Amino acid sequence: MPKRKNKLKKLQVGQLKTNCYLFAGAIIDPGDDFDYIYQTILDLDFQPKIIIATHGHFDHLLAVNELKSAFNIPFYLPKKDEVMLAWYRKSCKYYLGFDPGLPPQVDKFLTLQGPSLHGTEVIPTPGHTPGGICLYSQKDNVLFSGDTIFAGGAVGRTDFPYCNRQDLEKSIKNLLKLPDETIVYPGHGEETTIGGFKQLYKNHAY
Ligand SMILES: [Zn+2]
Repeated sequence: MPKRKNKLKKLQVGQLKTNCYLFAGAIIDPGDDFDYIYQTILDLDFQPKIIIATHGHFDHLLAVNELKSAFNIPFYLPKKDEVMLAWYRKSCKYYLGFDPGLPPQVDKFLTLQGPSLHGTEVIPTPGHTPGGICLYSQKDNVLFSGDTIFAGGAVGRTDFPYCNRQDLEKSIKNLLKLPDETIVYPGHGEETTIGGFKQLYKNHAY
């Protein structure tokens, strides 16, 4: 595998085993377990500049508020997923059985131009949610795919409110234009590559 310029750390967090990533100054999808994320950041001497969520599902957001206060850094959410925050408490209570408190406060809504994270590009990938995004770094040969594509050819669920199966399929098609050797870091489960995903992609839901 090609060497990455930026270091990358993966942390599995929360009851739904969300992958949180530390990469290029960004905390991506801090889905729970604030203490674990915080301690890892200190241990690695990682310098977080922003928190970013690939989409607005609560299991990608549960540690946002605490990390915002701990590091005094802004939180970015895709604009079209603002609507998902209204479901944050309800969904967490329903799926995990506890009240997570108020939803995270968004400091900046993600647009296609930003933010610039050492050349990381925001790719809109609606479908699993209306505003879902992937983060791509050509230089580092990595894609953070959120809940859009997973290892084993699996794709994001589209049986939740605000999902759209057709949009998801379009988004996946678009991702498949990336180089086959691109390493894919999904929101749950193991890594894959664009090429590896292509071979196993059989339209089954994660
Ligand atoms: Zn999700």
